[in-house]
Formats: sequence, structure tokens, C-alpha cells
Amino acid sequence: MTKTAVIFSPVYYRHNPGKSHPESARRLHAIVKELAKKEAAAQKNWNFVKPEMASVEDVELVHGIEYIKLVEAVCRSGGGLLDLEDTVVSPESYKVALYAVGGALKAVKLVLKCDFQNAFALVRPPGHHASKYRACGFCLFNNVAIAAKYLIQKCDFKRVLILDVDAHHGNGTQEIFYETSKVLYISLHEDPYGFPGTGFAGEVGEGEGEGYNVNVPLPFMTADDVYLRAAKEIVEPIVAQYDPQFVLVSAGFDGHFSDPVGNLSLSESCYQKVFELIVNLTSKTACGRLVSILEGGYNARFLGKNVAIALAAIDGVSCNIHSKFRKSSRSVKKRGEKVIEEVRKIQKKYWAI
Ligand SMILES: [Zn+2]
Repeated sequence: MTKTAVIFSPVYYRHNPGKSHPESARRLHAIVKELAKKEAAAQKNWNFVKPEMASVEDVELVHGIEYIKLVEAVCRSGGGLLDLEDTVVSPESYKVALYAVGGALKAVKLVLKCDFQNAFALVRPPGHHASKYRACGFCLFNNVAIAAKYLIQKCDFKRVLILDVDAHHGNGTQEIFYETSKVLYISLHEDPYGFPGTGFAGEVGEGEGEGYNVNVPLPFMTADDVYLRAAKEIVEPIVAQYDPQFVLVSAGFDGHFSDPVGNLSLSESCYQKVFELIVNLTSKTACGRLVSILEGGYNARFLGKNVAIALAAIDGVSCNIHSKFRKSSRSVKKRGEKVIEEVRKIQKKYWAI
């Protein structure tokens, strides 16, 4: 059996937020180019699969109909800004965003049917900043949240993990699942004080959701050492105890040191180790049911490389990476360790860590 489905369609090139916008089609072109190299060298155990367009009903699993209609209307009128900052749409963006949701759902359905062991949805626009009624941070519809809601509402799953490794806090995803225990949201991200303004360690969920929201807000310029320590000491034990039935990853790569938007300092080999850890955790808890959905990553050249690395880890194929392990500066390390301690103190109330 081919192990991994890579969901992709050229339709994703057709969302155009503007020439100088960091979230451009160049990102996916670079990924496809990098994957073609792996294909030529037979270093793969994955197959491309085309997505289907999601229905409005699918999108309504998370978003309000008024908001969905608004996105459609702005695109139909020629495009423009959807928020007060930098989330821009072009005439075709609504359709492309429906395909992005469709890509995430296709990935989930293929894994549920055991057609593939796992899947990676190479979609754009990204999704994790979008909330029920609001576009934000280049995101229109929250692809990963819709996939999680599908698992809960249509397949009766009781425990879904969303692990967010994008450099930024997934404010939309957190808000959507803040009051439920059916989704455990864990995010490792840069200090969210500037953007998006949420993602602090004390945000732990509310009501039934209390204890099912875990934020690890790392200092700017955090490198591999502190990031991997947080993954080992916080993520690993909490996921093992939650024992998810399905694992979804908000797979952003803008924490790479070269990224023009993110403010972390991670190497390619850090992404390899993180995805190896995710695969290992998923095989122990969720019968290997793993779906990764592309979020950020804005240095196109390195994005291609990092996706190929993540895919190799998921796919179980060896990947020759020669990137230097990056260490945080002394002051960043000290502040990062303080954050890990703070998260541990807060989450100790809910988990044995
Ligand atoms: Zn990001």
C-alpha cells in the first residue's frame, strides 16, 4: 500500500492576494518542484491525489453562513481586503478556498477508509487564523477545524488532537474549540504579543474544554534546542494521556530561521525531528491516523525543502538532510526554559507532566 496521500491540485495556484503578498502561489510551486525531485529519485512512498470542492454545508461545520456569503460576495465583486490588515482575496479565491477545505476533508476521508495510512494536504489559502465569522492572517476558512468538526460530527470521534506547529498561534482554531474536550488543541508558537494577540500559556479552555487547550508561547528567535525540549516535555506526555483517536497537524513552516514572516529560528532537521515525534505519537495513540494540512511558510525555497522533509518523516523514507542543529542564544534559552516551566505549572492541574 502506498503509505501517504499528498492532496494537491493546480487550482490552489489561483488564489492571488497580490504580487508582493507573502502568501503567494510561489510557495506551492516551490513545494511541487521539490517533490518532483524526490519523485525522480524514487525517494518516496506517496501518491498525489486530487481534492474535491467542499460544499457550503461542509464549510458551515465551522463558519456562519453570513460570513461564507460575505467571502463569496467580495470575491465576486473583484476581490479586496477581508479584514483590516492583510487578508486579501481575488475573484477566484472563494472557489480555491472551497477546494482547500475539500483538500483537508479528502485527506481525512482517505485515511478513514484506510486507502492511505496518512495524508498531507498541500492547500492554500491557509486556515488556522480564521474563526467562525472572521478572516484573519491570510486565512479564509479554517481547513483544519472543519476537518476536526467532520470527524466529531459525522464520524462520532470523541478525541481529536490538533497539533499546531506553525510559527504563529492558531487563534481561530483555539476559539472554535475553546469549550470542548473533543478536541485537544496544542500549539507551539512565537510570543503572540504582537500577532495574533492570543496564545498565552494561561489560555487553557473553558467549561467542558478547560484543560484541553495548551499554548507554548516561545520567545522570538527560539531555536531547535528549546523547541524540541518543549515538544518532548509538554507535547509528548499530554498527547499520550489524551490518547487521541485521530491526529491533525496544522503544518506551518514559518518557524524556519530564514522565514520573512515568522520570528523563530528553527532548522530543517528540527522539522524532521518534530514530524518523527508526531509519527511516533500517532502510531502509539491514534492507530497511525495522521493528516497534516499546510499552513504558513513564506521563504519558498526552504518551504519546499521543509515540506519534503516532513513528508519523508511521515512516509518513513530516509531523507538526506545536512542542516546544522541550531542553538538558542543564552538569553533566549533562559526565557524559553522559563516559558516551559510556566506551561508545566499551569497544565499540571490537568495532566501528569
Ligand atoms: Zn504562521
